[in-house]
Amino acid sequence: MTALPQIGVAAMGGTIAMVRDQRAGLVPALGADDLVAGVPELRGLARISGTVITSVGSPSVRFADVLAACRWARQAVDDGATGVVVTHGTDTLEETAFLLNLWWDRPEPVVVTGAMRSPGESGADGPANLLASVLTVLSPASRGRGVLVVMNDQVFAADSVTKTGSFGVEAFASPLGPLGRLYEAEVEYALTPAHPRPPALSIPDGTAWVPIAPTPLGEDSRVVEALLAAGADALVLDGVGAGHVPQIMVDAVERAAQAVPVVMASRTRGGRTGRTTYGYPGAEIDLIRRGVLMTGRLTAIQARLLLWSLVASGVGDREVIRAEFERRGR
Ligand code: ASP
Repeated sequence: MTALPQIGVAAMGGTIAMVRDQRAGLVPALGADDLVAGVPELRGLARISGTVITSVGSPSVRFADVLAACRWARQAVDDGATGVVVTHGTDTLEETAFLLNLWWDRPEPVVVTGAMRSPGESGADGPANLLASVLTVLSPASRGRGVLVVMNDQVFAADSVTKTGSFGVEAFASPLGPLGRLYEAEVEYALTPAHPRPPALSIPDGTAWVPIAPTPLGEDSRVVEALLAAGADALVLDGVGAGHVPQIMVDAVERAAQAVPVVMASRTRGGRTGRTTYGYPGAEIDLIRRGVLMTGRLTAIQARLLLWSLVASGVGDREVIRAEFERRGR
């Protein structure tokens, strides 16, 4: 008799692990072993060892928790796991998945999942998502794909998935579409990523504060100035259109870019930033000339995480940062 494959499951809180307190509403309560026990089919699929990284609503997940999850995942595969599953609140699931994907340097799959309905609700999706995640880890076709997000029987790439709805089990989507989906307990991949996976970044040993500045119609330079004065180590501009800001901001943006790395994302979410089209003050040609780096297809949320990872690792060289955005923002 061949031994069942080994899989690690780490719980990080979220609705998937929440129970209803009569007065407080849904609060995190369950650990990884409770979640695994709630899916009897898992017993015939794998030997699962559970751990708890944190037990919070996902708005409160910290960089330290994601770093701990990454170290745990590395140890689990070094100890022989076929891959690992991380259960997480859906609000910031995409951020943890994106960061883990930046650092993941093994072929074994890491799957991040959650639930839109708590275990006590009719039609709870957590058990189905956990089962689908384990099946995804077990699929040989998942190897070498980095970190994946599995929700609602769909498999997404960690570097393009977003929570697009606040309620409902179909809350996750990618502008590129899902990489694959589960049919009758098997994963079928339909999309091949357009580019090979960039090399993993080293896990940061420092920290940084990298805020995002919105730049909507009518905004002026005070947001950028205030963030700089408050000690930002780097700055992400959530620009309109292809990466533009109001003209009144450009001097402050240039001063910021001289002081710290400043990157420009497109708030359109689905579109990438420009390079060579618009030249008016506050548009990409002008801003690039003033030292701003462009994030390509990376959203402000993703750009902040990439920039955080670099700056928290001590990277300040604009050319190195520009090259990382070129490589990962294609
Ligand atoms: N607010 C919850 C969280 O992110 C939502 C969820 O998990 O679905 O922790």
